[in-house]
Amino acid sequence: MQIAVLGAGSMGHGIAQVSAMAGHTVVLRDIDEEFVESGLEGIRDNLQGGVDRDKVTETEREETLERLEGTTDLEAAVADADLVIEAVPEEMDLKKEVFSDVEAAAPESAVIASNTSSLSISEMASALETPERVVGLHFFNPPHLMDLVEIVVAEQTDEATEAFALEYVEGIEKEPVVVRDSAGFASSRLGLALGLEAIRMVESGVASPEAIDTAMKQGYGHPMGPIELGDHVGLDVRLHIAEHLRKELGERFKPPQSLRRKVRAGKLGKKSGEGFYVWEDGDPVAMSGEWGEDGE
Ligand code: NAD
Repeated sequence: MQIAVLGAGSMGHGIAQVSAMAGHTVVLRDIDEEFVESGLEGIRDNLQGGVDRDKVTETEREETLERLEGTTDLEAAVADADLVIEAVPEEMDLKKEVFSDVEAAAPESAVIASNTSSLSISEMASALETPERVVGLHFFNPPHLMDLVEIVVAEQTDEATEAFALEYVEGIEKEPVVVRDSAGFASSRLGLALGLEAIRMVESGVASPEAIDTAMKQGYGHPMGPIELGDHVGLDVRLHIAEHLRKELGERFKPPQSLRRKVRAGKLGKKSGEGFYVWEDGDPVAMSGEWGEDGE
């Protein structure tokens, strides 16, 4: 089928890649030529990495790239689309605006999906005259390596749209989980609950970040501990989601003070080189500063 992916950033380029690898024709759209090119470059790098590790053949790489094109023209991107997936920044007003523009330019039969990690799909759908064709497709970062996709069913989503989403996700060989539209869906809500409690435990001196992470890796089989995962995702992103869930679900999602302080200081985790850990070449090499300073 023909797919348009809107936003060529961290998530958009990965979603475009996995869709093209599964045989779909994909147009990747961003607002600036430079962002489009950087997204396509990201895909070329990922595919090359796959070839180097014998996960992708040279032929698969070439065929995938042939099925992909980039553009800054929204109307051209969605004109023949069967499925449009938006992966623009996490702002409700922007997402609603993008959805309205898509509704005006895409075929009436196209399914319109959002990759939001926390915003309400039902609210986004309310911007449209045809809200029944809206659904959430929540991919995980990086999409070419992570198998899970949450299918988020809004109040307005009809059965045909939900079935279409399931078929698409299974077709790209990902594992679908169907959830109702509620703050944080299933994954972010539970993952964040664990991450915030882990930070509170560090603050009150129960154990070091490293000890907590090791406990969850060795004791519970998590591939990455909750504190390291926060650094990996970005502490600013975690704080933002915590504030949203606090508003929607209550005080149990109140962000710990040390999380706020790190973000204020620009210690955002892996991407800034320091969070709860110090990062070098994409790996945590030491814990950052003292822990257990804050009391309960
Ligand atoms: P990003 O900032 O890396 O990329 C967003 C891209 O959208 C940018 O390239 C930007 O130029 C572009 N953009 C802005 N306005 C646009 C428009 N009107 N049309 C097309 N493109 C536009 O962001 P990201 O991390 O890829 O996140 C995108 C979405 O995916 C967000 O809703 C986020 O919550 C969600 N998400 C992110 C992650 C993650 O780990 N980063 C995981 C799951 C879901």
